[in-house]
Amino acid sequence: MNFQQVLSDADATVNLGNQLAKAIEKSSVIHLIGDLGAGKTTLSRGIIQGLGFVGNVKSPTYTLVEPYELTDVQIYHFDLYRLADPEELEFMGIRDYFNNGSILLIEWPEKAGDLLPDADLLINMQYENDQRSANIQAYTELGRRILQKLS
Ligand code: ADP
Ligand code: MG
Repeated sequence: MNFQQVLSDADATVNLGNQLAKAIEKSSVIHLIGDLGAGKTTLSRGIIQGLGFVGNVKSPTYTLVEPYELTDVQIYHFDLYRLADPEELEFMGIRDYFNNGSILLIEWPEKAGDLLPDADLLINMQYENDQRSANIQAYTELGRRILQKLS
């Protein structure tokens, strides 16, 4: 199952994130791929704020992960771009972030080797001249449920 949308400006990217926030469930694992500047963090911001976080969503480029503790859900937003070795994730105690119902948003999952949980959704952000497009692929039953609510 597949969802594709052209995003004419950054607000449209945030808005798609808001829509995703309405559809995702606890334990959703979302991998975000695409070039630098393609809109992965902007979309993540839309998801995190759509889930109820009020405040600034900054890119976890240097910290690798930023936690958001909301009233009824925990979100971990990863940016693994600067990860030199997947082993660093082991040192961070990455397994503690999994398996507890948390929502995982992971930019640059390809940097982690096979240490990450499998994606329910793979979101591919792409440049379309000055605009962007999002292609979302569902890999699990949960992923398909989310996409069904989106379209
Ligand atoms: P990434 O996390 O993929 O590196 P960012 O989300 O940080 O990318 O976005 C980079 C820039 O692209 C930001 O300035 C953002 O405002 C802009 N942007 C996001 N979505 C769109 C869009 N649909 N059209 C044009 N610019 C966008
Ligand atoms: Mg980013």
